Amino acid sequence: MKKYDTFLIDADGTLFDYDMAEENALKCMFRKYQLSYNENVRTLYRKINRDVWDSFEKGQTPKSEMQVLRFKRLFGALEIKGDPYIFNVEYLVELGKGSFLIDGAFELCKTISDSHCRAYIVTNGISTTQKARLENAIIKPYISKLFVSEDIGFQKLNTLYFEYVFSHIPCTDKSKMIIIGDSLSADIAGGIHAGIDTCWFNKCDTENHSGFIPTYEIKKLLEICDLIG
Ligand SMILES: [Mg+2]
Repeated sequence: MKKYDTFLIDADGTLFDYDMAEENALKCMFRKYQLSYNENVRTLYRKINRDVWDSFEKGQTPKSEMQVLRFKRLFGALEIKGDPYIFNVEYLVELGKGSFLIDGAFELCKTISDSHCRAYIVTNGISTTQKARLENAIIKPYISKLFVSEDIGFQKLNTLYFEYVFSHIPCTDKSKMIIIGDSLSADIAGGIHAGIDTCWFNKCDTENHSGFIPTYEIKKLLEICDLIG
């Protein structure tokens, strides 16, 4: 089997359990403001958040408005009186505390580091939140660097994102690099366009109708250990 020494690993849904972090942060905020929280709130928030992110990624909503807009809409739908701007700021702090790891994430990062290879996190999302989550995570000592799209100015799908990453890591041999992630449209498509091998973390056995064919497909993170060398 081919071996790699540079691992670009997605954060949300790959190393970190984003769903759990999001639910935890929402619950904390609703408790803080003495608002009633139930499964419907969560479902509604997720739908609004997805719509708002889609509109940001299509360039229809500026980043500065996007984050506040999701709570403005949620407050409107639930008839909550409050300041969505402050709520968003406090929500992001709570989200940054949610460093819940996916099964195998710790062992994977440690094995890469112990094998004198390097693990980098490549992520879209909000810079302060992603930095805080890594800061709070037990995998931190094994991660060489964190690359957040917001700092770079391009989303992970964009080859300019990858060019930035390549120019900020010591590895220059693309054949020794691989990207691992749960998103076909961001991680796998991005990796293919950037000319590196890809590994799709397909933990839920989803069918691939994207047209992007990963080099490898895995169900558990520890399957990647065979590729370290
Ligand atoms: Mg992901």
